[in-house]
Amino acid sequence: MIPYSRQDINEDDVQAVLETLRSDWLTQGPAIEQFEQALCAHTGATHAVATASATAALHIACLALGLKAGGRLWTTPNTFVASANCGRYCGAQVDFVDIDPRSYNLDPQALAAKLADAARTNTLPDVVVAVDFAGQPCDWDALGKLKQQYGFRLIDDASHALGSTWNGRPIGNMPAADITVFSFHPVKMITTAEGGVAITQHDEIAESLRLLRNHGITREASKLQQSSHGPWYYEQQSLGYHYRMTDIQAALGASQLKRLNEFVKTRQQRAARYDALLSALPLATPWQHSAASSARHLYPIRLHDISQRRRVFEQLRQQGIGVQVHYIPVHLQPDYRQFGFAEGRYPQAEAYYAGAISLPLFTRMTDAEQDEVVARLTEALT
Ligand SMILES: *Cc1c(COP(=O)(O)O)cnc(C)c1O
Repeated sequence: MIPYSRQDINEDDVQAVLETLRSDWLTQGPAIEQFEQALCAHTGATHAVATASATAALHIACLALGLKAGGRLWTTPNTFVASANCGRYCGAQVDFVDIDPRSYNLDPQALAAKLADAARTNTLPDVVVAVDFAGQPCDWDALGKLKQQYGFRLIDDASHALGSTWNGRPIGNMPAADITVFSFHPVKMITTAEGGVAITQHDEIAESLRLLRNHGITREASKLQQSSHGPWYYEQQSLGYHYRMTDIQAALGASQLKRLNEFVKTRQQRAARYDALLSALPLATPWQHSAASSARHLYPIRLHDISQRRRVFEQLRQQGIGVQVHYIPVHLQPDYRQFGFAEGRYPQAEAYYAGAISLPLFTRMTDAEQDEVVARLTEALT
């Protein structure tokens, strides 16, 4: 089986984990801050708050930006459910904005139109979650302008996009984004097994994120609201969660992060090779924005003839090619239909989904494996 994605763990990564296992700290030790600092150095951001998952990071990101029961969160339907669920954890209403048919990202024009409508009915969103799908950055200039005009808060769900850049700036450092979230699940750009991070330039937001990650508890003398009872004293100042990452995971993450540039380069070479090998087939290869460099987390193709998608997918799977589909539009999930969403609501996301297949792409993929994928796909389509 050629998997659609696979982690890349080398001997340095193994050693980093073993050293942590033999150290005094399995959790709440120095490895977490070291990983956070390395993420700041990589992105140029000032604060990084490592978490148990990207889903946890999205949840506390929404809370730190003030999303409350009765509030509104908008996101793209072409994403993993977590980008929308974070709003519901806060009791907010979730709505979607259709995608741009070229980038498959939330369409700034559709967003502008929806915002203009919402302004008229006084139903503007509190938070917008934009997703850099497949590693392809959103149009952060256009999103920034709309944010300025309408005053919502903006989260970059960059679970796919560690190592991507927009106008030469690393994702994680978009001036328009209040918070950026990365995922370290094994299929993502680097891994900590499970894990995520929330990154921000803003001191107060970072402080909220740290409190929310750790039960709402602080021990810092300067922040106490009551007088200390003694050296053991701590205060719960708000309702937080246990969303911490372990030192074992952080050590793995820091070791993996050193290899990120190499991972991105390899993925970009593989993607370029797919572009060339697939150019004559009846399908669209992933379009790239001229201001962007994608880390190429996924390689989603779109068949011209959507009536062939299921057969092609099944045939490839039977032949040991680990294809996937990213994504079933979130609004068509049963748990979202209860809010009145149905087919036809976001036609671009639905049309993209109907023809979408993600081809295997991972750092250790060989030319022979890639040739096999292309040969089987060519066979299936001709
Ligand atoms: C993977 C993913 C998440 C969730 O990441 P976890 O670390 O598994 O919680 C969220 N959003 C997107 C777009 C993802 O791909």
